Amino acid sequence: MNETPRTAIVGGGPGGLLAAHVLHGHGIAATVYDADTAVDSRDPGGTLDLHADSGQIALEDAGLLSAFHELARVEGQAMTRRDHHGTLLKEFTPADDDTAAPEIDRGQLRTMLYERLAPGTVHWGHKLTDLTTENGVHRLHFANGSTVDADVVVGADGTWSKVRRRLTDAQPEYLGVSFLDARFDDVETRHPEIAALVGNGQLFTADGAGRAVIVQRNSNGVIRGYVAFRAEEDWAAREGVDLTDRTSVREYLLREFRGWGSKVLPLLTDNDGDYVARAFTALPAPLTWERVPGITAIGDAAHAMAPFGGHGANLALLDGAELANALHEEPDVEAALTRYETAMFARTGHLAASANAALRGFFADQPEGGAQDVPDREEELRAYEARAAEYRASRTHAAR
Ligand SMILES: Cc1cc2nc3c(=O)[nH]c(=O)nc-3n(C[C@H](O)[C@H](O)[C@H](O)COP(=O)(O)OP(=O)(O)OC[C@H]3O[C@@H](n4cnc5c(N)ncnc54)[C@H](O)[C@@H]3O)c2cc1C
Repeated sequence: MNETPRTAIVGGGPGGLLAAHVLHGHGIAATVYDADTAVDSRDPGGTLDLHADSGQIALEDAGLLSAFHELARVEGQAMTRRDHHGTLLKEFTPADDDTAAPEIDRGQLRTMLYERLAPGTVHWGHKLTDLTTENGVHRLHFANGSTVDADVVVGADGTWSKVRRRLTDAQPEYLGVSFLDARFDDVETRHPEIAALVGNGQLFTADGAGRAVIVQRNSNGVIRGYVAFRAEEDWAAREGVDLTDRTSVREYLLREFRGWGSKVLPLLTDNDGDYVARAFTALPAPLTWERVPGITAIGDAAHAMAPFGGHGANLALLDGAELANALHEEPDVEAALTRYETAMFARTGHLAASANAALRGFFADQPEGGAQDVPDREEELRAYEARAAEYRASRTHAAR
């Protein structure tokens, strides 16, 4: 790059923080602005598997792959499938040296990315409220009353991105499936049966009639899960459920999940702390936009999709790395943003469309009412490795 653009990244999630790392590695200054008041000011959520063909490539570009492996849980790649009576359908245990997609807690990943940035890179307590442009200079307006001028603005501000509004009118849509976040603490002591059922990785349980429970081992004796069901978006109000009252939620779940076996019901009812109600939302896919000078988006801001396939954070990280590499390697900002967006649109459009369709299909009534197709874990892991090799080969080829 012949210029030294002032680069503002809005959003300090995985995508924004990773982009800042790779930019700094190339000697390009970049500042991150995030609405949160601190790196750990809110519950970061559960665990993520970082794939060899995307998340791990980005971490390598940022010089953070070995830091990731120090924290990551290889054994977390294990997968168990049970039906809603608790009957075992399928089990996968990874080899000790399988690094295709190890798990890391979201909080651990965010802290690792944040703490290794130069002090002062991330400005917490900066919620973007507006983005205006005059004479080619972008002005970021924050809820705290401050403003910042930038030549390049990267929207890494997630599903409900404010930056994206300058690129497209597209808005996230509800996918027809809601879920309750449930958490189990100190599981070996407090919830030994659940600990045994879930094992070291993920337990996937579904009934083929629009209900599923997906539970995952996190670090430090925590298990977190999603109790998911097809519903109207305002299901709690319609059903008279008080989301702040665990008893009220549990009564509803026991009605809604009638017929589920006693082995798996504790996954719905024995959690510690409150349930957190969430909805699966996604942007229309595939989503593209015309180039807007100096502004782009990465991660969920560009392609929020259903979590089936576990692509979201992985793609956010890879977007961040590829955008930063393009800003370093291309002669000017517009060439860099064009290169980044062209590759990102091509990579993410079909993945988002198929993840959204898979979620809708999975929660539709199944003709057999039985086990639905979920991808074979071993096949998935080997595919990440094969695509990682292809990605590296294409990069070497392009560099020649
Ligand atoms: C239930 C569930 C399970 C999932 N499981 C997986 C999985 O297994 N694997 C996987 O890869 N992905 C998974 N995902 C998706 C993954 O969480 C997201 O794709 C990923 O977090 C996107 O990263 P990001 O950096 O683009 O955005 P985010 O992580 O959403 O970060 C956005 C950041 O922007 C900040 N922000 C938002 N608005 C503003 C504003 N106006 N001003 C300033 N800052 C702002 C926020 O505080 C936040 O820090 C899952 C998602 C869900 C809902």
